[in-house]
Amino acid sequence: MSRKCWILIILVLAVLPITGCSPITDQGGGLPQKPDPIWLADGFDFPVGDAHGRGWAVTGYRFLDWSRYSNSYHPGEDWNIPGLGNGDHGEPVYAVANGEVVFSGWNTALGHVILIKHAISPHDFVWSQYAHLDQRWAAKGERVARRQPIGTVGRGPNNKFAAHLHFEMRKEDLPANAWPRTNGTAWAKSKVTDYWLHPTAFINQNRPH
Ligand SMILES: [Zn+2]
Repeated sequence: MSRKCWILIILVLAVLPITGCSPITDQGGGLPQKPDPIWLADGFDFPVGDAHGRGWAVTGYRFLDWSRYSNSYHPGEDWNIPGLGNGDHGEPVYAVANGEVVFSGWNTALGHVILIKHAISPHDFVWSQYAHLDQRWAAKGERVARRQPIGTVGRGPNNKFAAHLHFEMRKEDLPANAWPRTNGTAWAKSKVTDYWLHPTAFINQNRPH
């Protein structure tokens, strides 16, 4: 065998483990289609501050705190920059993971809201919901990437609240304005957790690798 040929073989062997690709092209045929890499979540970051949520904290209602305002268990977390009052108004809000916007609009209870559906596998989904926004930068049907700015922190409908982000993680497909209450009666905590996830715990358990 010629020297050139040996060099070629060594090169191919060296490249193989790097690319993980066979030099013979696989035409696919009947193989199932790979999921869209943007659509599938590759991990979850925090919705405000840096990817770790640094500089921000849940200083308002925590997950499952009793909310006297709504007479129900609070199904999300109220995020603020501690000590800043309304100074966090207008701060960017980020998509916590790759996903598809399934609702972007306004309602009288929550103000401007964005709801994003995330595929954690091709068949398993969770939803993140961002409420009381001042601005919305993502529309229904849009696919967003993890850490993509989707809007800004606001004060809710008609500046009803001090500026904060009301943030929810859901394990069931609920309307954007869903609240754990039926005809004015609060759901039990055990029922709330059938539909909602602890946002910070979920994100911490699903950080990007
Ligand atoms: Zn809240």
